[in-house]
Amino acid sequence: MSITLNQVKQTFQEKGIKSTLPRVFIFQCLQGFKHHFSAEELFHKVSKKHPGVSLATIYKTLEILVQNKLIAKVVTDEDKVRYDHRTDQHIHLYCEKSKIIADHEDPELENLVLNYLQKKGIPDFSIQQVQINIKGEFLTLKNKK
Ligand SMILES: [Zn+2]
Repeated sequence: MSITLNQVKQTFQEKGIKSTLPRVFIFQCLQGFKHHFSAEELFHKVSKKHPGVSLATIYKTLEILVQNKLIAKVVTDEDKVRYDHRTDQHIHLYCEKSKIIADHEDPELENLVLNYLQKKGIPDFSIQQVQINIKGEFLTLKNKK
């Protein structure tokens, strides 16, 4: 998916995010990822086109984008944060061997869990969102990255 600088600026304006050049470049660059990327991967990609954008700026910008729900944070159990430019509800498959996180569509499963929780509830806890992460191993790795 490619997005023009003006589209980025408009998206930022709608969310009330100040359009600084590094932020615009960063948001434009991350659209190109097909997988769930890390801040370092994004930094390498941004650096190739726009040297001078620091890793600190990448982290700060990612944080702003997450807060404004333009991207989502995916946390793995290795304390490594990855980012997702899909912010709609979907399931993640996490392969421990390859460290690849892939999207998985199964609305039936998500509804099942959500309906169950809505009916039963969790005492003293208000449910806002249910994220399903399934750990396992891909049997064939091609086309996953
Ligand atoms: Zn995803």
